[in-house]
Amino acid sequence: MSRSDAISLAYLICASLFIVGLKRLSSPATARSGNRLAAVGMAAAIAATLFDTRVLTFGWIVVGVVVGGAGGAIGARKVKMTAMPQMVALFNGLGGGAAALVGFSDYRDTIGLAGSVPAKIIVSILFSAVVGAISFSGSMIAFGKLQELISGSPVTVPGQRAITATLFAAVLALGVYLGTGHESSALLALTMAIALVLGIQMVMAIGGADMPVVISLLNAFTGLATASTGFVLSNNVLIIAGTLVGASGTLLTQMMGRAMNRTIANVVFGAFGTGGGGVAAGAVGPGHDAQVRSAGADDIAVMLAYARRVVIVPGYGLAVAQAQHNVRELADMLERRGVDVRYAIHPVAGRMPGHMNVLLAEADVPYTQLYEMDDINPDFPRTDVTLVIGANDVVNPAAKNTPGSPIYGMPVLNVDQSSAVVVLKRSMNTGFAGIENELFFDPKTTMLFGDAKQSVAALTAAVKNV
Ligand code: NDP
Repeated sequence: MSRSDAISLAYLICASLFIVGLKRLSSPATARSGNRLAAVGMAAAIAATLFDTRVLTFGWIVVGVVVGGAGGAIGARKVKMTAMPQMVALFNGLGGGAAALVGFSDYRDTIGLAGSVPAKIIVSILFSAVVGAISFSGSMIAFGKLQELISGSPVTVPGQRAITATLFAAVLALGVYLGTGHESSALLALTMAIALVLGIQMVMAIGGADMPVVISLLNAFTGLATASTGFVLSNNVLIIAGTLVGASGTLLTQMMGRAMNRTIANVVFGAFGTGGGGVAAGAVGPGHDAQVRSAGADDIAVMLAYARRVVIVPGYGLAVAQAQHNVRELADMLERRGVDVRYAIHPVAGRMPGHMNVLLAEADVPYTQLYEMDDINPDFPRTDVTLVIGANDVVNPAAKNTPGSPIYGMPVLNVDQSSAVVVLKRSMNTGFAGIENELFFDPKTTMLFGDAKQSVAALTAAVKNV
């Protein structure tokens, strides 16, 4: 077998590992092994590439692998779960930046060659340079917003849309000019500079809390830029890996949009969601004068201890409070008393896809107790107590009952159908969508105000004494 056949075979095996790895990521039970399989595939793909006869010097490659590998390993070990979205933004941005630089470098090499360069190569180079540049600068802004280095509010300039459209048109026009036989590295550098500004301009205008959706979209961009780089370098594994990232990023963006009942255009141009935390209108519900009912941990513990079925609904506040271990403890104690405990997982609870699954897995909550929205919704009418911990929008009945509400049409957990609802949060502040929640004014709802970790610990102590 020739060297190039061996490399192709290795790439085929790597591509299969990526696909099986991705498939296994779709269930919490198999996600770890899926991640490992994909990592092995990536390591093998890098090793196989290094056997390519086109690699002339290894010096800089080794430096890159050592610096990048060390940075990645340290970063991944140190990052807190709540900071995962910005970590992904950083990695994604670097991928886009790498695709852009490879595109630029290849362009310089290619135009130096005698004879005309095939249009498909030039188009691939331009695509990876421009899309990679947009993804790089956009991801860096997303990182800055999530890390609170820059304002999380949508930052717009007068004539925002006209400027975006002009920048886009300029990139397109320069791309067409370069792609139709006009060769100039300086012009490509200018095109990439405009693409960088376009990425900054687009993401600055989006609210910080929408960043996970934006990152997923930029992730798809990086995937496509990388696949395009694969065409330039005639590297099959890069084409396959880039296409997988592009496709999965696109699907994830769509799924997040659907779960939030938002279109991608609404996320990108809607300036919606600055992170929530606004104050709802006092303790009086909208359009009615119902008062909020609150109780102490002791009273709620009695409800829980004598219930037959309890459903726990975790939300963003659970992640903020880092209450996952305390929740597990409370659930264990209730189960020991014979209570049937389940967890209801909304697809966009928290601030990133799978946020609640990861948190609860950290506390070793059995996967079999986690129920997705469509599976648990029919159970609520048979539930004695639903314990809503730091969730707000994902249990807001306005999504079903109030046409005109910003979340109207978003699928929500039907917690209002259970016999009693207990909501743990610190105040009457709103969640991500910035809207009041009529559930809190429902006569069967009891509020337990305070930090979720302390409230859950107080409940556990109180259940012990029942
Ligand atoms: P929300 O943002 O709607 O509500 C979270 C609630 O947690 C707040 O009302 C807050 O109230 C409470 N809270 C915050 N800190 C604490 C604490 N320490 N202890 C107790 N409570 C606390 O969260 P949900 O999970 O219900 O909904 C997620 C929202 O985020 C949805 O609107 C979704 O569309 C959006 N989103 C989700 C993404 C994802 O991928 N998962 C991506 C982007 C957006 P208080 O301040 O009174 O304590």
